Amino acid sequence: MSPLGSFRTCVVAALSVASVGLGCGGASVSKASFVGPAAPALAAARDAGTSVYSVVYAPDDQSLAVEAVMPAGSPSTFAVEDGSERWLEATEVKASGADAFVPAARTSDGMVRALCSAGCTLRYRYALGAAGKIRRDIDSARTDGPYVEAPPSTWLLAPVGGRDDAKVSFVVHVPEGSAFVSGFPEGEGGARLTTVGQLRRSPYSAFGPLEVVRVDDVDVTFSVALPRKGKRIAPDLVIPWVKKSAAAVRAVLGKFPAKHAALLVSVTSGDDVEVGFSLAGSSIVLRVGERTNKETFGRDWVLTHEMLHFACPSQPDARDWAEEGMATYIEPFARARVGLVSREEAWEGLLDGFPNGQPARGDQGLDRTRTWGRVYWGGALFFFEADYAIRTRTDGKHTVFDAFGAIVASGGTNATSWSLERAFAIGDEAVGVPVLTEMLTKYGVTGEPFSYTQHLAELGVRRGPKGVAIDASAKRSAMANEW
Ligand SMILES: [Zn+2]
Repeated sequence: MSPLGSFRTCVVAALSVASVGLGCGGASVSKASFVGPAAPALAAARDAGTSVYSVVYAPDDQSLAVEAVMPAGSPSTFAVEDGSERWLEATEVKASGADAFVPAARTSDGMVRALCSAGCTLRYRYALGAAGKIRRDIDSARTDGPYVEAPPSTWLLAPVGGRDDAKVSFVVHVPEGSAFVSGFPEGEGGARLTTVGQLRRSPYSAFGPLEVVRVDDVDVTFSVALPRKGKRIAPDLVIPWVKKSAAAVRAVLGKFPAKHAALLVSVTSGDDVEVGFSLAGSSIVLRVGERTNKETFGRDWVLTHEMLHFACPSQPDARDWAEEGMATYIEPFARARVGLVSREEAWEGLLDGFPNGQPARGDQGLDRTRTWGRVYWGGALFFFEADYAIRTRTDGKHTVFDAFGAIVASGGTNATSWSLERAFAIGDEAVGVPVLTEMLTKYGVTGEPFSYTQHLAELGVRRGPKGVAIDASAKRSAMANEW
């Protein structure tokens, strides 16, 4: 039996609905068949004005067949993310009350035009594997052998020009032997609920022969996706690393900054955690060497850094210094709080990196000069200086970690695109001093250097013959020991 054959049987059993064009006989076919959304989802859609998608993945050609029921009041234009139109095929529409699908018009820039004001059903195919082979970018689509990573914004046709908070529900059907994992968590009946606005900032999502391990960890559920084909890594090594990194983040923020997160692990030939990326809506892609051992996972800082990104609202490019700076600055202390490194080691890494963050000749404020040094280390210096100011002005009662904890508690995670002004106002209020707002006004615009060396001296944090130590005779050494 072809993989698709076994899948079809599986779908009939799982959906138990009269689906469009679904049959179990026939010859082996490599393309996915359309499956209409299930009846309960459609009833809910009518009530709530939700766009309901049913997506079928075919591993043979790594393509998708998508059927989407749009509610009455929908706009007449639909689009996938800019640049992804080329792999959108066979777009058809059936108007409300019509008997049959007809080809849907396409604009010159690849958008789909369909009169849906009274509701409609759209269906189309998406050549996802082909898109991933050409785009080779995890933020849009990347194909790696039997695996395809692509956020739903690449392959779900979304209404254009309607409300950002319009509801979206999608179900992904995969055949036996394949899995789908996404930063959009799976709810009842396999439905993943979101909004049109959040769909545009979709989290990482992947299809393929993945083992998806669900990890319920204190206040968060992780979907950890590990490869089952090609190079592999044991879940027994990965899961403790995930939990320890989450504990580090919780130790500084008070809670984990997401209820659900997807961690997509791809395995390379090395022996270390090579790199990580995080994307809006609590999802992380990690590249890990197949020979990485327990000790190396124990020393890793990458995952803690990526998880900390969840605690900062997504910023436009000009302000990625805030996203990178907060993660770079907070990560060593997060790991120190759970004993993964000593406090002195935490300081040492920052002392090494801080000089890269000072403005070079001609540099303007952090919002205006976007170089590696200014983004990562200028951002880290900003938050060290903010932390120093908050601690000294509140007699050590509050920290910049508390400010971010308050931002997260108010809902300001990377699933949102709140402005820094809005997030910082919440942080300032929580710690009782307007340090973040004052500093944004100053360092965002002007290329003024940070006076961090003087503040490190007051704390007694200095390099000695045996590495970084805290000088007990310094004016604020007690504060440094509380960091
Ligand atoms: Zn980062």
